[in-house]
Amino acid sequence: RLGVVITLTDITSLREAEDELRRRASELQASDRRKDEFLAMLAHELRNPLSPIQSSLEIMSLQALDDPLTNQCREVIERQVQQLTRLVDDLLEVSRINTGKIQLQIERIDLGATVQRGIETSRPAVDAKQHRLQFVGPPEPVWVRADATRIAQVIGNLVNNAAKYTENGGEIAVRLESERGHAVVRVRDSGIGIPQEMLGEVFDLFTQVHRSLDRSQGGLGIGLALVKRLVTIHGGQVEAHSDGAGLGSEFVIRLPQGESERAAPEPPRADK
Ligand code: ADP
Repeated sequence: RLGVVITLTDITSLREAEDELRRRASELQASDRRKDEFLAMLAHELRNPLSPIQSSLEIMSLQALDDPLTNQCREVIERQVQQLTRLVDDLLEVSRINTGKIQLQIERIDLGATVQRGIETSRPAVDAKQHRLQFVGPPEPVWVRADATRIAQVIGNLVNNAAKYTENGGEIAVRLESERGHAVVRVRDSGIGIPQEMLGEVFDLFTQVHRSLDRSQGGLGIGLALVKRLVTIHGGQVEAHSDGAGLGSEFVIRLPQGESERAAPEPPRADK
């Protein structure tokens, strides 16, 4: 009889514990939602003033100035606005993915052109540190089905990091190939490298390996997390390689290439 009483008591306390756990889980979910909403709102508020600043800069740059100091200042503003825009766009994308609100515009695209577009968004960061950047791709188009804007953002983030984590005058190489049913993009740099034990973590949100070193460069540790999320929702994979500190890093992206993408000729262009 005593045994039965104890069991009933156990069941009651187990149920209470379960209820308590459920209540805490839903509290956590609600606060997570509030955090996501706050991040989205913050990113929007920061994004709004950036567009007019950027277009004003473009208009200003149409005017040739012969004052070197003014030109230098304009370049600094351009570079900083570009960094801030990347950060805010990444933040917006992460919050879109977290809240399931991301909508990919999937089309058949020539990956080579998209990779070059991504490289161009990081050109100011590359030039500012006098890096040499080389892009090598096959002469024929590499077709994939993907969201061109998002893939350009992925490449832009990788090239931007390559520039950021490499001492002045470094080498950055971007290679595009077709390999066994995949389109492969490799972004290699001659920079500070990543310790072996950190390679698995660099794609985690808010992870910064060289925290103390690159504070001056800004960054929140969201660029690579976004790269991984975007590549994954395209059905692709991303890897980080490095031979260690000072020996450079390489990021490899694989995007699936269906039979039709590989073989089919270029589709007729729809008039827009
Ligand atoms: P961050 O805003 O800090 O650059 P990322 O998510 O883009 O954030 O990168 C995460 C961390 O991975 C960086 O803080 C840096 O320590 C490391 N990292 C990224 N790219 C490279 C690279 N090309 N070479 C060396 N370390 C890198």
